[in-house]
Amino acid sequence: MTGSTTLVNPADETVIGEVPHASADDVDAAVARAETAQRGWAALAPAERAAALRRFAVVVDAHVEELAQLEVRNSGHPIGSARWEAGHVRDVLNYYAGAPERLLGAQTPVAGGIAVTFHEPIGVVGVIVPWNFPMTIASWGFAPALAAGNAVILKPADWTPLTALRLGELALEGGLPEHLFQVITGRGSVVGDRMVTHPGVGKIVFTGSTATGVRVAEGAARGLKPVTLELGGKSANIVFADADLEKAAAAAPGAVFDNAGQDCCARSRLLVERSVLDRFLELLEPAVAAFRVGDPRDEATEMGPLVSAAHRESVAAFLDDSARIAFRGTAPEGPGFWFAPTVLLPERGDRVAIDEIFGPVVSVLPFDDEADAVALANASEYGLSGSIWTRDLGRGIRVARGVRSGTLSVNSNSSVRYTTPFGGMKASGLGRELGPDAPLHFTETKNVFFAQD
Ligand code: NAP
Repeated sequence: MTGSTTLVNPADETVIGEVPHASADDVDAAVARAETAQRGWAALAPAERAAALRRFAVVVDAHVEELAQLEVRNSGHPIGSARWEAGHVRDVLNYYAGAPERLLGAQTPVAGGIAVTFHEPIGVVGVIVPWNFPMTIASWGFAPALAAGNAVILKPADWTPLTALRLGELALEGGLPEHLFQVITGRGSVVGDRMVTHPGVGKIVFTGSTATGVRVAEGAARGLKPVTLELGGKSANIVFADADLEKAAAAAPGAVFDNAGQDCCARSRLLVERSVLDRFLELLEPAVAAFRVGDPRDEATEMGPLVSAAHRESVAAFLDDSARIAFRGTAPEGPGFWFAPTVLLPERGDRVAIDEIFGPVVSVLPFDDEADAVALANASEYGLSGSIWTRDLGRGIRVARGVRSGTLSVNSNSSVRYTTPFGGMKASGLGRELGPDAPLHFTETKNVFFAQD
């Protein structure tokens, strides 16, 4: 161990704990333990692995409230959202508990015998997650990786390790073999980096910023190690003049201010057809004013504080004198890393309209027609998520196919379902998580030819 991090409740700035930093040697020891555990796990019958994952899900279900309260204290998530997140971990485990018995291979017609494919586990998988959705994003990596017969080492973000640590304990309570699922806290530059370079770690799933993701990919490339990368976003919420404007405007604050905008899928660019811009802003302003920002323990709260003082500083730095603020919502005064929801009316080339702010700030940008909307949505290095609001079915189809983004919704702002693939194009990532194919991303395909003579 090499030092520690003091954890602070973002809603009131009180100290809630201290978490040790593991060293590179600690990672090496964890990998050695994981390699042994993985061999035993992969040797179990598929139905036994499935049952173990279901038992883990049952234990998570019994601790949904405890996990949610931990997330409220550590990350400042509103309790309603935190309960959903903990329940989501249970659901993801249950969903992938079906996978060990369904990792079907293929039999290919060949001359002189039969050819059969097997989906072999990779071995030890490293999962590195950010601080914005600590437990849900972790589960997108560890659940399908375990289901495919791997061991997992999970590194939570330095600021928000508490739910991950608890999930590590709950896995043991549920009966997962010791050392099969290990949670290691510490600095990304030490623990994360060692996971990327360690030859015993066969795959890295990384979620975080694009800059760190590129470093992770470079490190993994040196070891010829596959990576899944879920990175940043600057997603577009496109509202056409023919849309149900009332519905689109009522939903727009949640689409970007949920989790205080600390959401890779945040629709932080609101593209509105010029002919209805004034009407849309008239509808948006009261919806933003009504967005309830406050104590995350309160069931009625829709948005809590930002995660840390440092992050609030980084968000606030975007609102310099040049920022054209249209209107803002409210936020509590006093202790806590509060930041009021903010609506900007920038020019297309302004920094706020281009960079990922990762806070409760949205840029409203008018467009002229369908072609302009698609071009503007695509005028971003990112391509993670987005929404299209229109009553014209054909336009919904054309624009959804035209926007270079991995996860889109028409007349909705939803992004994540564990049953459907999730991930980004361009600088938003590489590979996909969730959906029925995720366990296959944690396997190596092996083809075996059996000669008949
Ligand atoms: P980050 O700084 O890139 O950190 C992400 C994780 O990587 C943390 O656990 C961090 O550890 C670790 N890390 C840092 N340096 C590392 C290194 N050299 N090698 C290996 N690991 C290292 O990102 P963040 O600020 O926590 O998260 C915000 C970003 O994540 C945003 O850009 C957001 O859009 C993106 N995100 C994307 C998705 C998606 O699904 N596409 C989902 C959520 C978030 P420390 O905490 O110890 O630094």
